[in-house]
Amino acid sequence: MSERRRSPVHTVPDRPPPVYAPELLKGQKALVTGGNSGIGKATAIALGRSGADVVVNYVSDRPGAEAVVKEIEGFGVRTYAHQADVSQEDQVIDMVSAMIDRLGTIDIMVANAGLQRDAPTVEMTLKDWNKVIEVNLTGQFLCAREAIKEFQRRGVVPEVSRAAGKVICMSSVHQMIPWAGHVNYAASKGGVAMLMETLAQEFAPQRIRVNAIAPGAIRTPINRPAWETPEAREKLLELIPYGRIGDPQDIANAAVVLASDLCDYVVGTTFYVDGGMTLFPGFATGG
Ligand code: NAP
Repeated sequence: MSERRRSPVHTVPDRPPPVYAPELLKGQKALVTGGNSGIGKATAIALGRSGADVVVNYVSDRPGAEAVVKEIEGFGVRTYAHQADVSQEDQVIDMVSAMIDRLGTIDIMVANAGLQRDAPTVEMTLKDWNKVIEVNLTGQFLCAREAIKEFQRRGVVPEVSRAAGKVICMSSVHQMIPWAGHVNYAASKGGVAMLMETLAQEFAPQRIRVNAIAPGAIRTPINRPAWETPEAREKLLELIPYGRIGDPQDIANAAVVLASDLCDYVVGTTFYVDGGMTLFPGFATGG
């Protein structure tokens, strides 16, 4: 462990992340893709706790999605699970249209679903390249497009929100940190950055706010090998100045605030929630 990491503060047990915001999103309708697991699950629950009605999208894990729905029901808001593959245009169109039928509209789209198919570039199949781009990038385009159509149709409802609608793209620190052995994933997230900024520029005049969250290393199934063993954890911590691995709640809290009117003037921004991972930690002791 480096001198920096041996700081006494890192030996104190972590307090769990705070959970707050009752009623901040009261009356709003949110859809979270990949809402059955990891970051999406924590975000769907946090939005529900903050008063939003929530559609929990999943593609394969129905029991997981139903468990999230059950938890959100406890907040007294409306919620249901919806199966759809975000890379399939017809399924995304149906999902948003079903939401409008059932809940009346959509105010918040969290385009979170994503996956990795890692391989050294010379061994990466076109199939794995395409799969990651289709889910992580095309999926976010389709979800944003369908939500924005409804935001445009409905416009601002001042009793509900200052904005006509909000899109939150779940990006990654790998929208700016190159990642050898993960070229499909890094390229997809680099694409998400420009997708988000272009949508933000295009639709800001209609009071539609498009932003992104770029998580660092968050403890979820997507990156289990990176935190599962003590050795892997130590190695990962070398990349995180703040000295702890992120919790899905860290991202969920950022999503609630970003979706709310507390951030009404935040347009086209990437909110890095990464414990300082993007601060080039290798340069703290040299360079
Ligand atoms: P996760 O627990 O593996 O969750 C991924 C979610 O995406 C699952 O709910 C999965 O649904 C869903 N999904 C995958 N393919 C889909 C498709 N075609 N259509 C709809 N849903 C699909 O991973 P996570 O860490 O929470 O990842 C969530 C997002 O955060 C991703 O965009 C990821 O790139 C991003 N992120 C994560 C980290 C991190 O450290 N964990 C860091 C930076 C960015 P099923 O379970 O039903 O298959």
